[in-house]
Amino acid sequence: MKFFFADSQDMVDPTFDFETETRAQWRIRQRDDLYPHEVFQNPPYDGVLVSKAMVDGNGKTGGRYSLAQRQRFWRTGVRAFFRSSASLETMGDCGAFSYVREDYPPITPDEAIDFYESCAFDSGISVDHVILGFRPETDSQLPGFADIPIEWRRRQEITLELANEFLRRCHARKVRFTPLGVAQGWSPASYAFAVKQLQAMGYQKIALGGMVLLKTPAILHCLEAITSVRYSGTTLHLLGVTRCKHATLFQELGVTSFDSTSPLRQAFKDAKDNYYTMERTYLAIRVPQIEGNPQLQARIRSGELNQEEVRRLEERCLRGLIEYDHERLSLDVALEQVLSYERVHHPKQDHSRTYREVLEDRPWAACSCEVCGKIGIHVILFRGAERNKRRGFHNLVVFYSQLQNELVTPARS
Ligand SMILES: [Zn+2]
Repeated sequence: MKFFFADSQDMVDPTFDFETETRAQWRIRQRDDLYPHEVFQNPPYDGVLVSKAMVDGNGKTGGRYSLAQRQRFWRTGVRAFFRSSASLETMGDCGAFSYVREDYPPITPDEAIDFYESCAFDSGISVDHVILGFRPETDSQLPGFADIPIEWRRRQEITLELANEFLRRCHARKVRFTPLGVAQGWSPASYAFAVKQLQAMGYQKIALGGMVLLKTPAILHCLEAITSVRYSGTTLHLLGVTRCKHATLFQELGVTSFDSTSPLRQAFKDAKDNYYTMERTYLAIRVPQIEGNPQLQARIRSGELNQEEVRRLEERCLRGLIEYDHERLSLDVALEQVLSYERVHHPKQDHSRTYREVLEDRPWAACSCEVCGKIGIHVILFRGAERNKRRGFHNLVVFYSQLQNELVTPARS
């Protein structure tokens, strides 16, 4: 079971100084900043998934890449761009969620092939159109009477037509990458139908799209339905699905890979599960920067808060945590300094219990990853991209270990 990390240009600056919060003046983001696979001795994933939409943007929405980055990506290819070793696999897709609101995918099969082939991907996914909805009950309704929106059927047809054209053009152009066809559906039977069609076209690798929001039992039902039509040589990729606990079960049902960004995203998007350990997750300690916090600044401007006083609390909070990490300050004092700042930046919140827990447990000190070893308590501070992304990188390491453990000794529920 291979884990692909979906790229969104999340990198960290190795010159960032956590004590002074400054960077080296000579730092050039593109040259010096590091990807997760460059931060750790062992990359915390088996491959990277790069969306064409992320690199090129499409129509109205721009990608995450600057013009210079985009040009370099096309010129050097995906492997050189990511400075990745041959052991990391590269997979490309079109980024169907970026155009989910459009009537028809804005990318042609030949444009997708140009991207995968020119940038030398190992594998490339056909152009698809996401179906936003799931109605398993339609499988038991009478044909012709089933309550299925016309738009869903239309999107499945578009996805299958484009997959057919994509594979035909791959053969005609004698591409070097491995093509994957996408199955989109709204129920177990409709996914199985799509897989059957894709196999008839000649696909041996099939990506299952539109499952991001599905609960695990629903995904399992789809995989079971697919099993009834799947050839023994056909393998499946789950697009945007992270279910570590069921990795073995997924594997038994033909899934050989999946992709996700959620271990990284949760570090700074989640309301509670910010820092992973093998046993549990922790809330990161919020120490917002005044400069990066519009609400706080507005309250200072309006005269509700005194800037000097807020600054003093912020600095005392940060200093206290560092001192606590070096065991030069007691937990109670450090915690009180955190809470006195919290009472100013989020007066309605009270994280005293969860913060005490994480400070007592010191999970960063027990972690053997390169990030925790190097920056200590800073990894658990919710403060600025350099800390938040490093915490996400740490989460990738933990997630990847959990996945390996699960595949060796599955936890049966
Ligand atoms: Zn760590």
